Formats: sequence, C-alpha cells, structure tokens
Amino acid sequence: MYNALPAVSVSYDRATHIVTFVWQDETRGEVSDTELRSFCACADCRVKTLVGQVVIGRDCTIESIEALGTAGLTVRYCDGHDKGIYPWEYLQAICAGDAKEYLRG
Ligand SMILES: [Zn+2]
Repeated sequence: MYNALPAVSVSYDRATHIVTFVWQDETRGEVSDTELRSFCACADCRVKTLVGQVVIGRDCTIESIEALGTAGLTVRYCDGHDKGIYPWEYLQAICAGDAKEYLRG
C-alpha cells in the first residue's frame, strides 16, 4: 500500500500549518505540523504512541524540514525536538490517517 520512494516535493506553509507532500505517483498528502509532531518517528515517541500516551500536548510549529534521500525526512520542531527519521512509507501512512496501524506493523 505504501512505498519507500521519496516524495517529489515537500512543502510547509507556516500560515496554514500544513505540510504538503507530492508523491511519485503525483498524488498529494497533507498533514498539520502538530499532527506530524504527534506522530514523531523517534523511538521514544513511537513507544508513547503505541501505548496510547500523549506525545505532545500543545500546538507545535516546524522550524525546518530536511529530506534525506531514500532514508526519509527529518523535522525540527519549535520545541527543539528533532529526533528520528520519518521513513517515506510512514509519512504516507500518516497522511492517510493510518499512522498507528503502520507503527503496530
Ligand atoms: Zn520524538
């Protein structure tokens, strides 16, 4: 269902708080900055998500986004959190509302 191919483009609109992905098949995915933060890919946050703990309790904006080729994406948030790499498959799952299912594997 999801693939590991990098997005063609990733853009973040600070005004709307929306991150937009354009995938290889030209479909688009969108996720808000706070939602993306709540599904942080680092080990600590993944465990919290899996056991149902709140990863972040307030709105969060993005300071920078860096694409790492096929490895995925790193994001630095306003709270200083910049751990973990979001694999492209995981980002596709987040945009599709399937993040928790993806993490459960
Ligand atoms: Zn994290």
